[in-house]
Formats: sequence, C-alpha cells, structure tokens
Amino acid sequence: MQFVASLTRGAAEIKRLIRHWNDSEDPRNPFANILVTPIFTPPSTLKLVRELKEEGVVKQVFFDSGGFFVQMGRISYEDMYWQLLHFYRSNPWGDWYTLPDYVPLSSDDEETCWHKVRQTADGSRLFYQELPYEIKAKALAVIQGRTIAQVDYCLETYLRTGPERWGFGSFGTNGKQSNANIVTEEAFILLNYVSEIAVSNNRHLHAFGVSTPPAIYLLNESRVDSFDSIGWMKTAGYGKVYLPFVRAYNITYRDKGARGMPPQVFEKLKIRSGHECSFCTDFRMLETSRTHRILHNLAVIQDMVDMIRERTFGDDLLQIMEEYASTYARLRSIAES
Ligand SMILES: [Zn+2]
Repeated sequence: MQFVASLTRGAAEIKRLIRHWNDSEDPRNPFANILVTPIFTPPSTLKLVRELKEEGVVKQVFFDSGGFFVQMGRISYEDMYWQLLHFYRSNPWGDWYTLPDYVPLSSDDEETCWHKVRQTADGSRLFYQELPYEIKAKALAVIQGRTIAQVDYCLETYLRTGPERWGFGSFGTNGKQSNANIVTEEAFILLNYVSEIAVSNNRHLHAFGVSTPPAIYLLNESRVDSFDSIGWMKTAGYGKVYLPFVRAYNITYRDKGARGMPPQVFEKLKIRSGHECSFCTDFRMLETSRTHRILHNLAVIQDMVDMIRERTFGDDLLQIMEEYASTYARLRSIAES
C-alpha cells in the first residue's frame, strides 16, 4: 500500500519540510508520492513538484480534481471541469489524473446527492473521452455516493469507460472547515463493496483524504492500493499527534480530559508501539513546535505503511488500537466479513 502526501501548499513550506526531514537522516522518503490540486496550487509549487520529480525525490505525482473546492463553494463544478481539462492537456508529466468529481455534502437531500453522483460519473466519462491517449491510461475516476445504488451508478459507468484506477472519496467529513475525513461505518461498508469489485476487475483503488494510523490499517484490510491525506499536517496545526495504531491526540495542553494525552502516556505508547523518530525524542519540542509534530506524524504514517507491508505487527499493536482508537477497532469486523 502506498502513502501519497497531499501537498497543495506553498513551495517554500514544502522545501522546508523536505529539508528538515533530510536533516533527521531517516532514510525513508515520505515524499515519494505527492498529490496536488493543480487548479488551486500556486505555479511555484507545481514547478517545485516537477523539479523534485525530475531529481527523483518524487516518484509519482497525483493530480487531484479540486472536487473538494467545489464542495467548499470556492469554484463551480463547470469551471473546475474546464480548467482541469485545459491543465491536463498541457501537462503530460503527471502520473495520475483525477477526473472531475462533484462531492455530495452530508446535508444534501437524496435528490441532490443523486444529481451530484450522476454529474460525477457522466462528467468523468465525457472528460475521459476528451483526454489525449497517453493521459487516458493514467486517469483516476472518483466514486461518489452514499448508497450502494449510487456507487453502482459510478462503477457501471467506469467499467464501461475504462479508467484503470478508481478513487473512493465518500468518507464522512469531520467538521465544517475540515477536509480531515473520518471513516464512518456506512462509508467503510461502501468502501469494502467497491474494493471487492475493483479487485475482481483488476482496478487499482485509491482512498481520498484519510490518514490516521488506525484508518491506514483498515484501508489495507480493505485491499486499498494507495491513500492520500493532508491530515498529518492539519492535525499537527491543532496540536495533535499520531502514534502507530493510535488516533490523533492533543498533546499541547494538559487538562483537556479524554481528548488530550499526557506526556507519560505518550512515552509509554512510543515504547509499546516501537515508534522512534528524531522529531519526538524531546517531548517539549513536540509540544511547542508545529513542524516537529508535522514530521513526527509523517514518520508514524511511514511506520504504519512499513509494518503493514512487512506484516511486522502483532496482536499487541491491535490491542493498542482497541485502547486508543476504539471507534476504528470496531470497524475491523466489517473488513473481515
Ligand atoms: Zn516520532
């Protein structure tokens, strides 16, 4: 399973993060796969990403559609469609090209949701036909929907049309301004349904916008091939950190009751989970520096991906998940069934 770092940010910040990571002498590369939303990314960032790819730091570039910004009301679906088509036609250097999607809001009624699902599937089919041949092979079609019938509408369209990578984007969103998706039971049931069809039709499956450690474990159980998120960065901004198989906990202020994590618990969990990185050796630094939290979170994601790939975790880690991410632990039975 591949981690894709979502980096729709300024070039200076990306450079700074890569420099700090390299200074830590961790030989792993969490920036090997990068996702950017080209129509909302400053040209300087796109230039940097392209250079990093030429230098071999970045191996794969995923272009995202900007569906999230349509959802936020920042751009209309139609404007996104045309801007994206123009960008894709003139930028053949990417590795994956997300087709335009129209994300239903949790507040949308059934009829509106159906409208957006049809727009996503039918719009993607038309868009795909407009793409040059070499980009068609790198298209990523997004599945939206809250019900099996809606998901089926997308799947039937994409099976006929042909994109070889599918993306699942219908996770629950956590809060109004946040794109830090959470895995709800309904969404996880749909994801497993999609995954089964993807596997039997030899399609790769990408999960959009999820990256808490227990969610990474669940995505792998559902045979997802890749996932992206900016959650590691956003969550660090809110004072929160990850640990393997543990959801995000706030460490920056103490008397927060159940949502916070005292330093003693953090240190104990580091030992139990086997996590070590140069960004959390000094707890004071982790508590006071957003950059340390960002890079520590990236290191934890990397731990998760490695442990899952090499199957080097045991029941003790799943026990940690029961204790520190119980809502995720409960979803395990869905993937197993
Ligand atoms: Zn760490």
